[in-house]
Amino acid sequence: FLVRVERLGSRAMDDTVAVLALHDLTAIKRMEQMRADFVANASHELRTPLATLLGFIETLRGPARDDADARERFLLIMQEQASRMARLINDLLSLSRIELNEHSKPRTATDLGRIVETATEALQPLARARGMTIVATVASEARIVVGEADELAQLVQNLLDNAVKYGRDGTPVEVSLGGAAGPLPPTVGNDLTPDTAVVLAVKDHGDGIGKEHLPRLTERFYRVDTARSRKMGGTGLGLAIVKHIVNRHRGALVVESVVGQGSTFAVYLPRPEIDDKAVLRPSP
Ligand code: ADP
Repeated sequence: FLVRVERLGSRAMDDTVAVLALHDLTAIKRMEQMRADFVANASHELRTPLATLLGFIETLRGPARDDADARERFLLIMQEQASRMARLINDLLSLSRIELNEHSKPRTATDLGRIVETATEALQPLARARGMTIVATVASEARIVVGEADELAQLVQNLLDNAVKYGRDGTPVEVSLGGAAGPLPPTVGNDLTPDTAVVLAVKDHGDGIGKEHLPRLTERFYRVDTARSRKMGGTGLGLAIVKHIVNRHRGALVVESVVGQGSTFAVYLPRPEIDDKAVLRPSP
């Protein structure tokens, strides 16, 4: 435990009044370390595809200059690597934008039901390519939440993306939006109650996630299986973005998973209160 001790007040006062300001430097040091790790990780993630790109450019200008087959293959790889860099940069920008706004709680009434339906439709082709179907169930009394439409769309998309990426071929992905049936899990905290919360749950039938990984799942760049994540085009930032969006909405994220059976990601979000109605703007 590190502390910084500051002496405050004028010299004359020092004899009679001792004022100590104690700052917990441990927390500050931890934050600094996290920031340094983040920059190192982000640079490493960008450097890998960049090195591949530079390597292929050199080959295309040299040994493969006149090889039409090689050129086609290499260009395809280069396109994939450039897309990966673009995805990473988009996710990094999203994360920093959401973090910047995290102190301000959204006050807009948003039709989360419509967002779920739109995202389901948009991802259905990707799911079908793997023999999967996304099945969405939206309860009409739970459609509206207090939230930022763009951020909630990103949250739903990231969770659905993961369910399709990490689900098993041929199994369904089940998405539901409804009221809380029964008491909320203790990890949800005291801000929400069964009466004031809606629950968005995304359930897959994939390999599941080992218990030991769950506490670190929303850390930036944390991956259970790095090779699989990379192969599926993951940036390692999707759940960190989800966590920050949930925090900004004063909601909660609860992950349940059974290895070999699948995972459920449940997001608890606030419903508009009757008193709120006057100040809430409907989303466009
Ligand atoms: P990524 O871009 O790698 O998917 P995320 O932040 O979205 O990054 O997720 C972090 C890690 O959590 C993933 O790499 C994966 O190992 C694991 N994960 C996320 N969602 C699921 C899921 N539905 N089933 C199994 N593992 C998952």
